[in-house]
Amino acid sequence: MVVSPETLQYIQELKEKHNAVIVAHNYQHPNIQDIADLMGDSLALATEAMKLDADVIIFCGVNFMAETAKILSPDKKVIHPEPNSRCPMAAMITPEALRQMKAKHPDAIVVSYVNTTADVKAETDICCTSGNAVKVIQSVPEKKIIFTPDKNLGMYIQRFVPDKEIICWEGYCTTHQNSVTLESLKALKEQHPDAEVIVHPECTPEVIDFADYVFSTHGMLEHAKSSKVSKFIMGTEKEMCYRLSQDVPEKTFIPVPEAICPNMKKITMDKVIASLETLTPELILADDIMQKAKIPLERMVNIGRG
Ligand code: SF4
Repeated sequence: MVVSPETLQYIQELKEKHNAVIVAHNYQHPNIQDIADLMGDSLALATEAMKLDADVIIFCGVNFMAETAKILSPDKKVIHPEPNSRCPMAAMITPEALRQMKAKHPDAIVVSYVNTTADVKAETDICCTSGNAVKVIQSVPEKKIIFTPDKNLGMYIQRFVPDKEIICWEGYCTTHQNSVTLESLKALKEQHPDAEVIVHPECTPEVIDFADYVFSTHGMLEHAKSSKVSKFIMGTEKEMCYRLSQDVPEKTFIPVPEAICPNMKKITMDKVIASLETLTPELILADDIMQKAKIPLERMVNIGRG
């Protein structure tokens, strides 16, 4: 749905009134992407939101992303327009369960995907994103890694670090695991034999083996810009194709139609405007959790992209 000029003007006035910025993940509704001041994957949002000259961040993404923005920008007010926009994969691990696993493997270091809640990060040694996971694991001297929470990403990383033992948590992304299937990609490839198949590392190993390339969302964007190919089947959340078509309009991006993250889609235009009007609901985290979770996040940020 196209955002009307009146709505855009109203949003602009509210942003100026509160010195606010709208930050949005690549999987948000297209109309939310259209009003965002900053778009990106989880690493870009984590690092760039810190640098924004703003008092208020309206964060359009799931809960752990808004938490990360707050932890890295503690002096800013972070507003999460829909607190029930929560990542099911992040909910597949708790700090208590992670503590039990650490007790079983006292010689292992804990690497957590950034798709974890702040209290799980507080039990983590270093965070990573899908874009820098291999680089992060190569950077640590330990040979034994507890990797949480995405088993598919953990198994994918293992291919690049055969000298290390990665113990994967049994979590997964419900969208990439259940909706980006081998059958759906094969059917699209039959319809578009000239298209390259690109998938996200949250997909299952059989999907990864079928793909031409495996990239984080940032990597997908970079590849689409530089590739000589003009048509791509995108094995990731459907809205990534909107982002790609905005940034690389001369190329064609074919989504897996059923690959929708319903949790990302809980943030709507009405909720964003209500948040800009009232500066609620504010995301609040306990100070001790913020302090502890900041350490693995800063280690991740210092390592940068893979
Ligand atoms: S796409 Fe997957 S990992 Fe991302 S927020 Fe949705 S469920 Fe979580």
